[in-house]
Amino acid sequence: MLFQDINNFINENQSFLITSHIEPDGDAIGSELSMAIQLEKMSKRVFIINPEPVPKRYRFLRRWKDIEIKKPRQNIRIDASIFLDVGNTKRVSWIFDFVKKKGIPILNIDHHVSNSLYGDINYVDKEASSTSECIFDIFKALGIKLNGEICECIATGIITDTGRFSFKNTSEKTFRVCAELSCCGVDFSSLSNYIYNKRSIESIRLLSFVLSTIKVIEGIAFVQLTQRMIKESGAGEEESEGFVNYVLAIGDIKSAVFFREKSNGEIRVSLRSKDETINVNRIASIFNGGGHSQAAGFRSFKSMKELELEILIAFQNIETKRDCSY
Ligand code: 5GP
Ligand code: MN
Repeated sequence: MLFQDINNFINENQSFLITSHIEPDGDAIGSELSMAIQLEKMSKRVFIINPEPVPKRYRFLRRWKDIEIKKPRQNIRIDASIFLDVGNTKRVSWIFDFVKKKGIPILNIDHHVSNSLYGDINYVDKEASSTSECIFDIFKALGIKLNGEICECIATGIITDTGRFSFKNTSEKTFRVCAELSCCGVDFSSLSNYIYNKRSIESIRLLSFVLSTIKVIEGIAFVQLTQRMIKESGAGEEESEGFVNYVLAIGDIKSAVFFREKSNGEIRVSLRSKDETINVNRIASIFNGGGHSQAAGFRSFKSMKELELEILIAFQNIETKRDCSY
């Protein structure tokens, strides 16, 4: 039924706006490009419009330049929109208002537990490793045969959202999907090299600054990135993506918190959990954020010091609740 609705949505419309979230990651870019390439193969007109530019590390994907960050011209006809990997409408900045004002219908394809079901059609698979995996499932259900380039984009989303197949969201099905992608010619080794082993020396310097701030309180590791570190390292802000995963290498911590100071003073907070019983999505939602049980985030204009204290209390509270439920 849902697949039939998606099929109709694609068939009945001719021009599409595709979008994804701020601070785009590999799943955002991979799912957008795979959807765009397929729609173009079906002779549809496609505009990929994001709130923020494509990070350098994903610019090896041939079609990355098709992703724009400015408003489409007034006279451009857009029949329908597809929101990919977008848990809630705040995550796409001005694009949700733009689409709503024009009365453009939304197909919401996502895998976040916290998805607020804002679409006219909502395909939200919380079991999927990534939105890219959802796209694979949809194409398969619709009988679409994938080309090598689409497979590579889907694989990029899966590799990055599963932390190279190491996070809890990596299921037996994820491996089955990847086996099929591999059969289609995806070279996982070379793809991982493009994504992870082409960092700038500046970003490694930034990583060293960030790691030097580490402190562990009550089993939670805190690290921070300031605007000053960005200036001193010469790295771009988006090059700090994935830094929090280095912190998770410490054996006896249960969670990690990464504070990133943005140029407007706002703090972006990334939460990670190593302990299956600690659901960081619940912590993020206390601060009006969201995500997944093991990886979530929010943003705030409070100071890092204040946030640290509030986060510690939030962790204590959910742990107390968990202990009581035994
Ligand atoms: P990251 O820490 O890598 O930015 O994000 C981890 C997960 O949490 C991602 O799935 C992301 O979509 C979600 N997330 C991060 N920041 C926010 C936020 O401000 N709001 C919501 N709703 N989700 C977020
Ligand atoms: Mn994702």
